[in-house]
Amino acid sequence: MRSILLFGETARTLNVIGDRWSLLILRDAFLGVRRFEEFRRRTGAARGTLAARLNALVTNGVIYKSLYGTSRNRLEYRLTEKGLAIYPVALGMWRWENRWSTEFGLPPRIVHRTCAHSVEPVLVCCECNEAIRLDEIDCEAGPATKHTATRRSGVRRRKATSIEHTGAGIDTALFHTVDTVGDRWTALLVVALFFGLHRYDDISEALGIATNVLADRLRKLLSTGVIEQQLYALKPPRYEYKLTEKGRDLFPFTFALHEWGSRWLPSEFGPSIIFRHGVCEKKLRSRLTCGACSMQLDPHDVDISLDVQPRRSGRVTSPARGPKR
Ligand SMILES: [Zn+2]
Ligand SMILES: [Zn+2]
Repeated sequence: MRSILLFGETARTLNVIGDRWSLLILRDAFLGVRRFEEFRRRTGAARGTLAARLNALVTNGVIYKSLYGTSRNRLEYRLTEKGLAIYPVALGMWRWENRWSTEFGLPPRIVHRTCAHSVEPVLVCCECNEAIRLDEIDCEAGPATKHTATRRSGVRRRKATSIEHTGAGIDTALFHTVDTVGDRWTALLVVALFFGLHRYDDISEALGIATNVLADRLRKLLSTGVIEQQLYALKPPRYEYKLTEKGRDLFPFTFALHEWGSRWLPSEFGPSIIFRHGVCEKKLRSRLTCGACSMQLDPHDVDISLDVQPRRSGRVTSPARGPKR
C-alpha cells in the first residue's frame, strides 16, 4: 500500500470529501447553500444519498447543523472552520471548470469584493510569495512512509455511483471536475502522474490499485483529455501516460487536497511526502491569492453570481454572498 504512504495526505482527504456528492455539497456550501432541499435541488442527489453524505460531513467535522427559524426540525448545514479551509479545493475546481469545461456552460462568476475583479485564484508560496509552478517543486518521502504498518482501513472502496449524468432541471455546471476526478482512485492516479509515475506497472504497484480499476480510470482520463499515452515499447506494445496541459492544470486543485489533508487530517507519523519550493528552497506551504490584487482569498470576501446561465427552473439567486460566518 505504498500509495497510502506516499500520497497519505491526499488519500485521507479523499476519504472524507473525495466522492462525487461530497464535492458537490461542498461546492454548493461555498456558494452559500445551507438547506437540505436546496442542496437536493442543486446536486440532484437522491434524498437518502444526500442525507448520508451530509451526516458523514458532519461526523468528519466539515459542516455542522444549526437551527433556524422558530419551528423544530428547521436545520441548516454550515461550514465549520475545518470546512471553510477546503476553500482552495472548491476554488481550484471552479477555476479548472472555468478554463476547460464548455459542455455545461459557464460556471458562476466570483468577484473579489476587495478589488472588484473577477477571481482568478493563484496559488503562491507562503515563504517567498511567488506563484507556485509544478516544475519548480521538489518532493521527497516523509517520515510516515517508514511506517509500513499504515492501515489499509484508510482505503474505502467507493460505490459505483459516479458517472450517472443527471436529468433536466439540475445544475450541471461544475460537474465536469467532479466527474473527471471525483473518485478516490482517479484523483490518486492524477497525483501519481504529477509526481513522475508514468508506466502502468509503476502506477499499479505504487497505488496498490486493482488492474481492472486502473485500466478503467486510465481510459476515463484519456477520454476526457486529461492524459495522453505515448508508446515506449513495441513488442508487446507498452504505453506511458502523461498529463496533458488540461491535466497539468489540475495541479492547484490536487495540491489543495494535499494541503488540507496535511493540516486537518495529520498522521501520527508525520507527513508522508515533503514538498520543497525550488524558488526559495523552503518547505512548501501555499496560500491562495487573488490574481488581480494579490490579497489572500477568503470565502467571506467574495460575491458570487449564479445567474450566468438561463436555466429551465427559476433557480436564479444573484448576487449571493459566500458562506456567512
Ligand atoms: Zn517559495
Ligand atoms: Zn482581488
